[in-house]
Amino acid sequence: MNGIDIIRRLETEHTASREELIFLLENITPEEQTLLREKACEQAKQVFDNRIYIRGLIEISSYCKNNCYYCGIRRSNHNAVRYRLTKEQILGCCQQGWALGFRTFVMQGGEDAYFTDEVVCDIVREIKRRYPDCAVTLSLGERGYESFKRLREAGADRYLLRHETADAAHYARLHPPELTWKNRRQSLFWLKELGFQTGAGFMVGSPYQTAGNLADDLLFIQELQPQMCGIGPFIPHHDTGFRDEPAGTLEQTLTLLAIIRLMQPRILLPATTALGTIHPKGRELGILSGANVVMPNLSPGEHRKDYALYDNKICTGDEAAECIRCLSLRMQSIGYQIVTARGDFQ
Ligand code: SAH
Repeated sequence: MNGIDIIRRLETEHTASREELIFLLENITPEEQTLLREKACEQAKQVFDNRIYIRGLIEISSYCKNNCYYCGIRRSNHNAVRYRLTKEQILGCCQQGWALGFRTFVMQGGEDAYFTDEVVCDIVREIKRRYPDCAVTLSLGERGYESFKRLREAGADRYLLRHETADAAHYARLHPPELTWKNRRQSLFWLKELGFQTGAGFMVGSPYQTAGNLADDLLFIQELQPQMCGIGPFIPHHDTGFRDEPAGTLEQTLTLLAIIRLMQPRILLPATTALGTIHPKGRELGILSGANVVMPNLSPGEHRKDYALYDNKICTGDEAAECIRCLSLRMQSIGYQIVTARGDFQ
């Protein structure tokens, strides 16, 4: 096997075998990395030109009933500061975001019992009533088929639920026993079946992760065919049992972004905040490796630092207007342009 041949195959056939993916992940040279990222960047340019879609992220709650071992807002972290936004605060974020050019609002949060179907559906309906030209994306964890259905009927367009890892045994090392790969996987297929533009995704460099796990993550993306894929490096949080684990690397995250772009040419692929956190130019490098989306934070300033999934998260001190201005300049600096558009999957 040879890295260049695998890259060519990804470029022309948009696929590779599990063995080829593992070989590439374990043996890729710096020159091959450069080639792979260039090919992925060209592929993204063919589909999206130099246009970057923006999504306004509203972090609606830091309460969570779950206990994911890697996450800073896990239930048993008693040092986490908990907050939840009111409907009025969420609508205020949307108003500000709309004026700044956002046409997608993403409501993300811990699995907070306060946000019942009734509460979330009411907020979704109100956002869609006020901003009929906008997409509403939810990222509120595993809520079950009936709940997903109600949210969809209320008008939610998209749902982000990272699969985290497509290996049941690895999944069990990152989550407590009540959370299973089986249910995560099932939830993603339900979301697709219900007509959500669905986002899967995983952390790069999470504890115990192997190249085989990453190959399985890529093959799962090929099987599920999600419209979106969120990937970023794992970053330890000081109040979790993984506090001393190393963070995922810039290089490996860029390699995975590039492979995903070549395997799924039209997929919506964000350069994530976590990528911007491990390297000052992380998001720019993500775009240059095939990403086409950025997700600036629209959450109210006073709560930003409390949605702490991992340490040193960037942009926690900025206001929404500053965030978008900073990102626009960053994108311009590499020849890209942020656009005001819903940016649906085509
Ligand atoms: N409760 C929702 C939203 C989770 S937060 C859900 O279950 O989908 C969004 C994502 O942040 C998670 O899916 C996870 O991949 C990522 N994340 C959590 N902790 C992290 C960490 N320590 N480092 C990097 N990413 C992390």
